[in-house]
Amino acid sequence: MTDRKRGQKPEITRREILKGAGVATAALGAVSLSACQSESGGRAALLWDQAADVVIVGTGVGAGTAALTARENGDSVVMVDKAPVFGGTSAKTVGVIWIPNNFTLQAKGIEDSKTDCLKYLARYSFPELYSADAHQLGLDDHTYSLLEAFYDNAHKAADQLRETGAINLAEWRMFHLDRSATDYLDHVPENKVPTGRTLGIVGADGVMGTGVDMMGQLEAALRARDTDILLGHRAVKLVVNDTGRVVGLQADRDGQSVMLQARKGVIFASGGYAHNRQLLASNQRNRFYGSCATPMATGDFIHIAGAVGARLGNMSSAWRSQVVLEQALKNSKLAGGVFIPAGDSMFHVNKYGLRAVNEKRNYNDRTEVHGIYDSSRAEYPNQLMIMIYDQRSAEAFAGIYPLPEQPGDSSFVLQGNSLDELGEQLQQRLKELATATGGYTLDASFTENLAQTLAKFNTYARTGKDADFQRGEASYDSEWHQAFSPMRTDTDWPVNDFPSDTMYPLREEGPYYATILAAGGLDTNGGPVIDAKARVLNVDDQPIPGLYGAGNCIASPSRDAYWGAGCPLGLSLTFGFIAANSAHLEENEQS
Ligand SMILES: Cc1cc2nc3c(=O)[nH]c(=O)nc-3n(C[C@H](O)[C@H](O)[C@H](O)COP(=O)(O)OP(=O)(O)OC[C@H]3O[C@@H](n4cnc5c(N)ncnc54)[C@H](O)[C@@H]3O)c2cc1C
Repeated sequence: MTDRKRGQKPEITRREILKGAGVATAALGAVSLSACQSESGGRAALLWDQAADVVIVGTGVGAGTAALTARENGDSVVMVDKAPVFGGTSAKTVGVIWIPNNFTLQAKGIEDSKTDCLKYLARYSFPELYSADAHQLGLDDHTYSLLEAFYDNAHKAADQLRETGAINLAEWRMFHLDRSATDYLDHVPENKVPTGRTLGIVGADGVMGTGVDMMGQLEAALRARDTDILLGHRAVKLVVNDTGRVVGLQADRDGQSVMLQARKGVIFASGGYAHNRQLLASNQRNRFYGSCATPMATGDFIHIAGAVGARLGNMSSAWRSQVVLEQALKNSKLAGGVFIPAGDSMFHVNKYGLRAVNEKRNYNDRTEVHGIYDSSRAEYPNQLMIMIYDQRSAEAFAGIYPLPEQPGDSSFVLQGNSLDELGEQLQQRLKELATATGGYTLDASFTENLAQTLAKFNTYARTGKDADFQRGEASYDSEWHQAFSPMRTDTDWPVNDFPSDTMYPLREEGPYYATILAAGGLDTNGGPVIDAKARVLNVDDQPIPGLYGAGNCIASPSRDAYWGAGCPLGLSLTFGFIAANSAHLEENEQS
């Protein structure tokens, strides 16, 4: 800790404070300022180790943007992160950020109007409510105001990051294609600007960087602005005064309590609960086998904010992605995302040998299919999905995850000279994994259906029309397939000259390959509900004074939708920006 006030003689010890707080607020789990006052006989007696206008929890992009905004507003800042390094999951990202009406669109003269953009957001996030002609597009005041706040502030937040030199932003170009990114629901009529909303990071070498560059630049900008960054400090409890206002934070460093006073507010941007087994079990059922989020993503804010009466929302949602089951079972914290499954002579089937989804849809929406319940059979038929491909895809797309560099050269790839043999291999492997998968096994109809599915898929590939799941019809499918899954040029396999480059007929003879996929995610995105000022709401829908939230730790304003590449980062930094501005404008009566 840099400027801890060690010289001051405390009127009560920290131990006494915590003891008193514990008696007064054991049920709440928050530190009550009045409990400390009553023991010591005066407000001034509470020992703060450090004070700042704004205390921020986390060092990911939401927290970093909040900190930068606060510093630009002239507010002093203390950031705490329980990790030993700066950057959170944000530093692990591709570093793409979805910002509507951004400066690159404006520079090109492309209008991304609020009216049209809100229609896209509402249509994608709330299809069961959306009505173009209804008041607020059919959404309630709270939901609509969050979407509005995002549209109104996202480009301002990005401009601030760019103009202050905190993050060097530019239009993000899709890998290999070198063109603007296509949104994840580009083909609905409500999306009037289907490409160009995604920004990327320019690294020090002048080329497109990633999340490491983004968070490195942001950390440097914050340190240059004298921001106190306390790593290895875990936020434990909020400190509230007798009016219920949040006035500080109790953190833990190596078992020692550190009391941080927040004159204007405490902002949490502490990530989701991707690695909290208990929360996953109660909220995600069979839909979260693993995540590549930082191991620190344990949903601490849910408990901390719950202790001061916060209302929770969106708890069963996540930024979803398929994972390779066997990798996730080995280490759920290292499960890599199967973002766009590689290959064109490739499809996914369930335990009945049937396709259930467009395999080239975006990872978030595609993964939803794992959660479909069959009420007659009382089961989740797609709990696991099996990626099937032939020798062409195995060689022509070798090395593109999850395909190994050499065909079949991985413990999670099964191989059979015929579909029958492949089915037998799969059945055996599923049996071995049964204790971890609820006994998910292939149905007796699997192999017969698989042969029919293959024949049907091959017809679709030849005609370019996937009558079941419309694979390849939207520009998104083809462009992201090319971006994530470019065909190798060092094989003898012919280029795909069938009508859709996303589909190629599988060969009539083996070998065939299979990999078992499960649902996982980038992180979860449920937690305390915020309002359009990023204020955390209580169970009566009233703001809890002095408490703000942004990013994956709060109930995402987008609910389940992933509006385009960079949607989570775009939301996180925007609401971090809003939170710091809101805190700046609020008076802390107890300071
Ligand atoms: C491999 C990968 C790639 C991704 N790529 C992208 C991408 O390109 N674009 C995109 O939009 N999204 C991407 N994501 C999604 C990603 O989850 C979010 O976009 C983003 O990183 C979330 O940022 P955040 O601000 O919520 O906080 P995070 O970056 O998750 O940071 C939270 C921080 O809070 C800290 N913390 C947690 N609890 C406490 C506590 N009690 N006390 C103190 N500190 C605490 C953690 O240590 C962590 O440092 C990707 C995710 C992964 C895993």
